[in-house]
Amino acid sequence: MFHCDRCGECCRNLDKSELYKALDRGDGVCKYLKGNLCSIYENRPIMCRVDKCYELFFKSYMTREEYYDKNYEACKWLKEKRRSKKCHYH
Ligand code: SF4
Ligand code: SF4
Repeated sequence: MFHCDRCGECCRNLDKSELYKALDRGDGVCKYLKGNLCSIYENRPIMCRVDKCYELFFKSYMTREEYYDKNYEACKWLKEKRRSKKCHYH
């Protein structure tokens, strides 16, 4: 199972992909993000569902482990970006 620590960073960087344009409130943050959590979690779109996306779009290209690793890399990059932004301002 994919491990998410609910930092909310992926939902604050929607401007990195055209796919999430409809969810972007205008500054890259999702209009459904409340604090660090998704306020429509049970009904969130398919592109917000890691396992569902694997089944539908990535299964024939890579193993689940490889897919998770790519997602973890993206999480790590977003967290580091957040940290460096904080350092820049404080
Ligand atoms: S960036 Fe990764 S760890 Fe943070 S909320 Fe998104 S999926 Fe979870
Ligand atoms: S719908 Fe929910 S999971 Fe998807 S980007 Fe918005 S806050 Fe995040």
